[in-house]
Amino acid sequence: MVGSSTSGADRLVIDVVELQRRTGTRRDVRASLVLLDLEVGERCVLDGRLGVDLVVEAATEGIVAVGTVRGESRVPCRRCLDDVIEPLEVEMREIFERHPTEGETWPIEDERIDLTPVVRELALLGLPLAPVCREDCAGPEPDRFPAMAHVEPVEDAPAPRDERWAALDDLTFDD
Ligand SMILES: [Zn+2]
Repeated sequence: MVGSSTSGADRLVIDVVELQRRTGTRRDVRASLVLLDLEVGERCVLDGRLGVDLVVEAATEGIVAVGTVRGESRVPCRRCLDDVIEPLEVEMREIFERHPTEGETWPIEDERIDLTPVVRELALLGLPLAPVCREDCAGPEPDRFPAMAHVEPVEDAPAPRDERWAALDDLTFDD
């Protein structure tokens, strides 16, 4: 069921027959995935492209998958709505069992584990909620809607003198 595209598979299914022979057996899993519909509203994983770097280990309770899911997120800046593209990195630590607990562990079916829905869920959870394109982004209409970062504290002290005007003090006007 692995996609034929060289750019990335659309599923990540691992045969765990060998692993399950002995508790403590580990296997490194590295994969490039391209998953469709990796988006929540305006927030998405750039091109649906994700890199997965895991260690899968046979444990007494089942199979444990530990590692990292990486990609790039594309989310509109909360002030100016321009796309903000930044690295996405989510830690994975999930358990697969023959009799999974809904919402807590994932199934082992036909001696295989399907990491696709796990990767999908983690990637979506990792999308930033409301990023800014840069800390001092003023938004599309800074005069009408000034960003908080632009509200300067009111100062009692007079503004420092601009040295460029100093020369004017030496001028005299004898009309
Ligand atoms: Zn912005």
